[in-house]
Amino acid sequence: MKRYDTVVVGGGIIGVSLAFELRRRGQSVLVLDRQQPGREASWAAAGTISPAPDHESLGIAALGCESYRLYPEFAAAIEKASGESAGFHPNGAMELFFDPDNESERDRRVEEIQNHDVAAEAISLAEAKVREPAIGSATRATLWIRDEAYLDPRMITHVAIAAALKTGVEMRGNSDVLSVLVERNQCSGVLVADAERNRAGRLEIRTGEKIAAHNAVIAAGWRSGEIGGVESHAPTIPVRGQMVALGKVSGAPRTILRSSLGYMAPREDGRTVVGSTLESGAAEKHTTAAGVQKILNAALTMAPGLASAPILETWAGVRPDSPDHLPIIGPTNVEGLFIATGHYRNGMLLAPVTAKYLAEWITTGKPSAWFEPFSPLRFAAASDAFTAGEGPKKGHF
Ligand SMILES: Cc1cc2nc3c(=O)[nH]c(=O)nc-3n(C[C@H](O)[C@H](O)[C@H](O)COP(=O)(O)OP(=O)(O)OC[C@H]3O[C@@H](n4cnc5c(N)ncnc54)[C@H](O)[C@@H]3O)c2cc1C
Repeated sequence: MKRYDTVVVGGGIIGVSLAFELRRRGQSVLVLDRQQPGREASWAAAGTISPAPDHESLGIAALGCESYRLYPEFAAAIEKASGESAGFHPNGAMELFFDPDNESERDRRVEEIQNHDVAAEAISLAEAKVREPAIGSATRATLWIRDEAYLDPRMITHVAIAAALKTGVEMRGNSDVLSVLVERNQCSGVLVADAERNRAGRLEIRTGEKIAAHNAVIAAGWRSGEIGGVESHAPTIPVRGQMVALGKVSGAPRTILRSSLGYMAPREDGRTVVGSTLESGAAEKHTTAAGVQKILNAALTMAPGLASAPILETWAGVRPDSPDHLPIIGPTNVEGLFIATGHYRNGMLLAPVTAKYLAEWITTGKPSAWFEPFSPLRFAAASDAFTAGEGPKKGHF
């Protein structure tokens, strides 16, 4: 039986970027995905690449800045390997404030962003209207963030997949990983469901297929915690987010706009994507009347010229959150078993930093200080029981 250096479970932006980096460092790599790779959170994201932390993401501020610094190099590498454009646009972003006394709030925010070494400045309303004529008359104060980019998550995930494949990564869809295989506290691979649908349309597991590997990395997004042997290291929590895509109109913004109401980002083809909702515990991928109403209200307050835009698409995706809302990245207490998940609202931003430094750690054995605050061991119970050759454990069939 072929033994891979590393099997990566999950073909989202995190898993495929990591697979690409591992392969570039000479490893044999297999990516397994329970569906078609790139069709989960990484397909649903808005695509703002924003190192400026808000009050909820202060814990990843340094990691986010490092990832933003790495982005041009990462985009160039996957473009070179795939022959396709990654569509990374570092054009900046504008934050809008609507209350009459919001200048002091804006100034506090500028200071907060600058304190994290992200280039930002307060700008007058007149200047804001020149930079972004789409902003609405309800705007009372504005700030400009130079260090921010937009991209199309579906496009860059596709390009990262193509780059990984061209570099020699093997990839298998429809491969639902049930559990990690462990022998004498050393990871020996993963167990994939060999399943078929019964007449009622439900999947029935017949047997499991063992895939042998020296290392396994669990990058299965919000479902990571369902995989047998990983639950205590990656107790992921689903958080649904809804999105709306609006068609090209003359009043559409050219840059990212953000406010306390929501955010919007342009696409290369003139569409505007608007989001979002934060619905903890919701994993059903449908939009709701209230969700879409909230998003459209935000859109029309920030950029009223979008009122005539056709609604092209609505969708929902599920973010991988963790109990402390921080990513879960690094080795576990099982030799060769690594986790790369919990990127929550920032997985598109954090893909380059996760892929580069985790690949370095796996291939050299040298720990990365970048991941110290994000260790999977912070969740793992002392009594964590791993047994050799564990069988199917998951409950979602
Ligand atoms: C509405 C919305 C807007 C967002 N906007 C942004 C944004 O603007 N900027 C930003 O940085 N981030 C954003 N995010 C967050 C970002 O999308 C995620 O953090 C990121 O996509 C996570 O990537 P991932 O590879 O970990 O997970 P995923 O993309 O979910 O990939 C995980 C993969 O694992 C597979 N899998 C799951 N279980 C198994 C199993 N048992 N066996 C095999 N395969 C399995 C899945 O099929 C999937 O393909 C947004 C998210 C949402 C939902």
